[in-house]
Amino acid sequence: NGLFFGSRYESTAAASDSSATPPAETYEYQAEVSRLMDLIVNSLYSNKEVFLREIIRTSGAALHSLLAGQACLIWHAGNASDALDKLRFLSVTEPELLKDAVDLDIRIQTDKDNGIVTITDTGIGMTRQELVDCLGTIAQSGTAKFLKALKDSKNSASDNNLIGQFGVGFYSAFLVSDRVVVSTKSPKSDKQYIWEGEANASSYTIREETDPEKIIPRGTRLTLYLKRDDKGYAHPERVQKLVKNYSQFVSFPIYTWQEKG
Ligand code: ADP
Ligand code: MG
Repeated sequence: NGLFFGSRYESTAAASDSSATPPAETYEYQAEVSRLMDLIVNSLYSNKEVFLREIIRTSGAALHSLLAGQACLIWHAGNASDALDKLRFLSVTEPELLKDAVDLDIRIQTDKDNGIVTITDTGIGMTRQELVDCLGTIAQSGTAKFLKALKDSKNSASDNNLIGQFGVGFYSAFLVSDRVVVSTKSPKSDKQYIWEGEANASSYTIREETDPEKIIPRGTRLTLYLKRDDKGYAHPERVQKLVKNYSQFVSFPIYTWQEKG
């Protein structure tokens, strides 16, 4: 459903997100998030590839909690697919949200030489406040359920099982990444912001995106700097295989790139 394999492979620019940006502000993670990140980073979890599922595929939770009026926050969206669903849903009553007439889709690029995977959606994006509220605290859906189950079970031997069962949402990016950079633009904001976090860190930073080449009209771009042992996920064939597995219920096109032959 909506799967497309392009025939070109263009390497995305590597590790230079900083240069001329205003100073970054540092924020501490909520205690539960730190606990969760520790668990992820130190976990023996063998099914790391779920990270891509969490990032692209909707759990249905986002739209559901939006309708139930729950928060993280009014703009609660799960991942790329949730973000697109929500944009489509909200644009029925707020058509101006679509003013930047970009297609609703998800693009996954790989840079295998540098071990980088980039996932870009043209969904609802996040404002600066939403970045703080959503990626630094525990949102209520899958991740919260996971932590509750973990508390109830009091059995660390079942951690791996629990991660598989509930998913750990955005933070699953740290199953395979040393560093995660989220550059995001809400159609409600005229500014684009960069969230940046590292595995094993107790804080993250937010700064404004000022590089004109990286400004996007709307949506979210996640850049995963893969761990040394996980750089295999930056191979286009590997990503395509995972996308095939995990894109079943995604109703937006997912584009991946292939290396030039
Ligand atoms: P959940 O999907 O269970 O809410 P996640 O950890 O996956 O938890 O995501 C936390 C929050 O971050 C989401 O609820 C959403 O508000 C925000 N978010 C994550 N990825 C995106 C994205 N691609 N676009 C917009 N918002 C996002
Ligand atoms: Mg999610």
